[in-house]
Amino acid sequence: MPSSLVDTRARPLRDLRISVTDRCNFRCSYCMPKEVFGPGHPFLERSRLLAFEEIARLARIFRSLGVEKIRLTGGEPTLRRDLDRLVVLLAQIPGLDLTLTTNGSLLEQFARPLADAGLHRVSVSLDSLDDATFGKMNDVGFPVARVLAGIGAAAAAGLKPVKVNGVIKRSVNLGSVLPLARHFRGSGHILRFIEFMDVGTTNGWRMDEVVPSRELVALIGAEWPIEPVEPNYPGEVAERWRYKDGAGEIGFISSVTQAFCRNCSRARLSAEGRLFTCLFAVRGTDLRALLRGDASDDRIRETIAAEWRARDDRYSEIRKSETAALPKIEMSYIGG
Ligand code: SAM
Ligand code: SF4
Ligand code: SF4
Repeated sequence: MPSSLVDTRARPLRDLRISVTDRCNFRCSYCMPKEVFGPGHPFLERSRLLAFEEIARLARIFRSLGVEKIRLTGGEPTLRRDLDRLVVLLAQIPGLDLTLTTNGSLLEQFARPLADAGLHRVSVSLDSLDDATFGKMNDVGFPVARVLAGIGAAAAAGLKPVKVNGVIKRSVNLGSVLPLARHFRGSGHILRFIEFMDVGTTNGWRMDEVVPSRELVALIGAEWPIEPVEPNYPGEVAERWRYKDGAGEIGFISSVTQAFCRNCSRARLSAEGRLFTCLFAVRGTDLRALLRGDASDDRIRETIAAEWRARDDRYSEIRKSETAALPKIEMSYIGG
């Protein structure tokens, strides 16, 4: 039976986000700005990435420590070759909810093989339905239609409900909020808006670019009345709302204006096998060295447990304008 491991704030370890690559085919301005992640950027060499067998071994150990949900992420996870082979390995671990976060660009091709491999659901990022605005957000001119096709393919393959995540920057895509809401109302997909966060140190974050969820609730509610829904479980990141006319759910992730550190049960594993206990951490524990140094499962389990027991993170609760400039790990590395 999973143990009842808790950190210094009595928070259990329930979720693990695994980054399978630090590379991406988009250059979203809020995540991997082109000026920083240009052609000469030193991405991780393949030999430094955890092999699928290494990831699966760690996943089993995390499961034994109480992890119930694994989300594959990146960078762009679908760029990792043969990702479905990793999903097959993870799907063999009993009692795990297995999901993937993707920009959707390759989902039309990979939704079916990933579903067949045992993936349960996907979250797809989409910041606008307007090609010019979306092209500006992803900064490689990627067309909306192909992401929508990916969302359709995911639903058709049974990876549902599909969650569609949009990051809103006030000066760029606030005008995309109502069209996105209109499009996904009644579709069976769940649209969620994420507040623009000060992850990493390169995305030029400014508080005046953040659109507080409250403002979006008012904007959408004025068009189509909505009401709050009880969380699925304590510590759920998205605040759930539903359309009063029965057109389904919509969510808001208020990482900046309403911090949810108090219930944060998430650990992160970087593509090269470092364990981070917070999205805004500066230091990670090298689990790859243990894996490749022939450490036993018990030794690795004890290392992870000791890190979690000592965990004190609550960055979003103490965020101030000064903390936004502190050194932090980039989201594309640590895994969003
Ligand atoms: N490439 C995949 C994708 O975009 O879905 C997975 C990795 S991405 C880092 C995970 C999520 O983090 C995406 O939904 C993305 O929109 C979000 N994200 C990245 N930078 C962000 C920021 N500065 N503020 C809020 N969300 C951000
Ligand atoms: Fe790539 Fe996702 Fe970051 Fe956009 S948010 S640059 S798609 S990793
Ligand atoms: Fe969890 Fe850190 Fe985010 Fe707080 S800031 S919710 S502790 S990941």
